[in-house]
Amino acid sequence: MLRPVVQYPDPVLAKICEPVAEIDDEVRSLAKDMLDTLVTVGGVGIAAPQIGVLKRMVIIDVSLEKEQDDLPQDFRVFINPVITVLDPKPHEENEGCLSVPDLRAKVKRPRRVALDAMDLEGKPVHIEGEGYYGACMQHETDHLDGKLFIDHISFLKRSLYDKKMKKNRK
Ligand SMILES: [Zn+2]
Repeated sequence: MLRPVVQYPDPVLAKICEPVAEIDDEVRSLAKDMLDTLVTVGGVGIAAPQIGVLKRMVIIDVSLEKEQDDLPQDFRVFINPVITVLDPKPHEENEGCLSVPDLRAKVKRPRRVALDAMDLEGKPVHIEGEGYYGACMQHETDHLDGKLFIDHISFLKRSLYDKKMKKNRK
């Protein structure tokens, strides 16, 4: 089921999410709603708080690993994901977010990371990658700690964006 995407500055996006204790029907139906929403609105990843559920779950397009534009998207569910930095050298990617309308910005993050999680069967999964793929893993996992990519951009850029959003809401 398609769900509305929570938009910045909704305070839900700044909350810390709860770990998933058990993979039950509720968790499976949440994964389905996240996927339906992501496919409908379009994107490379989504985190549960973006549809208003404070659970540690993300979906990432793992076809990004191949760095080829013509590949079909391959969405995987990651439950309780944990990021490990494999190469801390800063790397910059142009990021955007379904919850942060009308903004893309360069964000510096560690160059290469691993993500460890569980899949919907409760089996451990491990992915690693760099570039845009690595940035995507970090971006989505950040959401579970109430962090958005705009928390990583310069103060000036952030202030300009906040001002614009305030104006739009009036
Ligand atoms: Zn995002």
